[in-house]
Amino acid sequence: MEVMSGNFIHSFIDEDIAEGGAYYGKKVHTRFPPEPNGYLHIGHAKAIFVDFGTAEKYNGLCNLRMDDTNPTKEDVEYVDAIKEDIRWLGFDWGDRFYFASDYFEQMYDYAVELIKKGLAYVCELTGEQMREYRGDLSTPAKSPYRDRPIEESLDLFKRMREGEFEDGRMTLRAKIDLSSGNFNMRDPVLYRINHMHHHRTGDKWCIYPMYDFAHPIEDAIEGITHSLCTLEFEAHRPLYDWVVDNISINVKPRQIEFARLGINNTVMSKRKLRALVEEGYVDGWDDPRMPTICGLRRRGYTPKAIRSFTDQIGVSKVNSIVEYGFLEHCLRDDLNETATRAMAVLDPVKLVITNYPEDKTEEFEVENHPNHPEMGTRTVSFSRELYIEATDFMEEPIKKYQRLYPGNEVRIKSAYIVKCTGCKKDDNGKVVEVYAEYDPETRGGNTPDGRKVRGTIHWVNARDCADAEIRLYDNLFTVPDPDTGDKNFLDYLNPDSLVVLDNCKVENRLKDAKPEERFQFMRQGYFCLDNKETDRLVFNRSVSLKDSFKK
Ligand code: ATP
Ligand code: MG
Repeated sequence: MEVMSGNFIHSFIDEDIAEGGAYYGKKVHTRFPPEPNGYLHIGHAKAIFVDFGTAEKYNGLCNLRMDDTNPTKEDVEYVDAIKEDIRWLGFDWGDRFYFASDYFEQMYDYAVELIKKGLAYVCELTGEQMREYRGDLSTPAKSPYRDRPIEESLDLFKRMREGEFEDGRMTLRAKIDLSSGNFNMRDPVLYRINHMHHHRTGDKWCIYPMYDFAHPIEDAIEGITHSLCTLEFEAHRPLYDWVVDNISINVKPRQIEFARLGINNTVMSKRKLRALVEEGYVDGWDDPRMPTICGLRRRGYTPKAIRSFTDQIGVSKVNSIVEYGFLEHCLRDDLNETATRAMAVLDPVKLVITNYPEDKTEEFEVENHPNHPEMGTRTVSFSRELYIEATDFMEEPIKKYQRLYPGNEVRIKSAYIVKCTGCKKDDNGKVVEVYAEYDPETRGGNTPDGRKVRGTIHWVNARDCADAEIRLYDNLFTVPDPDTGDKNFLDYLNPDSLVVLDNCKVENRLKDAKPEERFQFMRQGYFCLDNKETDRLVFNRSVSLKDSFKK
């Protein structure tokens, strides 16, 4: 894969590993720390790309660490899915797969160390009181427990761990600076009591470390040199540094923040994505309309398209919303080169070539890709009865219509030129069959006399094709920003985000398509065989042909 484009993070790293820098002579070591409480989405793909891509660029290492310090809603299902998605994107953590919960004992010891140094204390303010005593820019925070004897805090903290107190009864707080202009430094909570079962440590613990305390310790234990995270942690960096500076550990990871990725017409928080799944608005985390990695994969996205997208949007310090169309643009770019061409008729009507022998079948060799002869050719068969798109015939043509109408000639792609002679309609006036005559001199779709034929249409042999279901997707939400302000994102679900066409006809060879195999259906777009419903042919439209994205 290509090397990640340069960005400000790399400039920082360059300084750090240069002679005299903090990590001179050391291997660059990053980590990706997902919380296993949902599936990964395209925003995570950006973080994965930044974490793994940066390590790759510097010939360093990147750990995969489940940030499972919070016992709520975490599940092994998510852990497995996260690993699968990262591997699919093409990144590798080697044997460096960790769980933050594996460090609980060490975190506890570091907390005890801080208490012994007079840098942490057990506080008995309730959550509500703590908010009340938080102070403001001109008033410091306060806690009557701040100066309790070290021995007393040590004893209470031990009893907190042993389960003597109920949830919320007390906390362990760092003793830093009650009047700090950065409220994260106003004696932040390091541990809280939570009598909850943890998916890995079971009931061993009833106190859990807060993110701001746990994360720097996890990074330091693993020898992370650069802890790359999103912008919302910027104001937490002084606390991050405070923790590693005050515990007995000899490494000092450097936290660097970058902008979160937002995309319009979708939601990206795991909580909201989970709501869509649990309330049945979509068909699972891997619904092709979801911005999850597994959803995009099922939709037909390639790892290359996603990596190229995350690289091209760049890494900066300014949060911004990227157009969904740009993600699609990146997919089109990839599939245009790599997808095999095929013909599929989405809304079929029969075309009968009345002067073509009843029992004859011909075969045409057609290239799989117009610009890549190495992708080979395939055989398509032709007979007296074909399927064409219903929209490729008009009994009374509108202006500039160049496809089939009585008296007009069109090219049946790669086969023959035919002239339309009429149609048959049912009692409701619906066209059920179209008629045409072919010109035997035009085999392959060429006109030996050089006459102009404007329209070219795709088709399949009605006597040698397969039935398929084709699913067309549109934005999940009708507005660009369904979850900003006081909007309830569920009010903006697009009722037409999925259209199922269940009477499609495709080239027979597509029966042998493999799940996730991608095709360009001529004139229709890029499609891939569904990876879930494999008992019949179901194709998902990955993206249309037309690029609406404007730079
Ligand atoms: P969400 O709000 O979607 O639940 P999160 O930040 O809580 O996301 P985590 O599992 O904690 O999810 O995220 C793992 C890593 O991915 C973190 O380092 C986080 O900063 C990063 N990340 C999450 N969302 C985005 C995003 N939209 N853009 C870039 N990085 C992201
Ligand atoms: Mg999180």
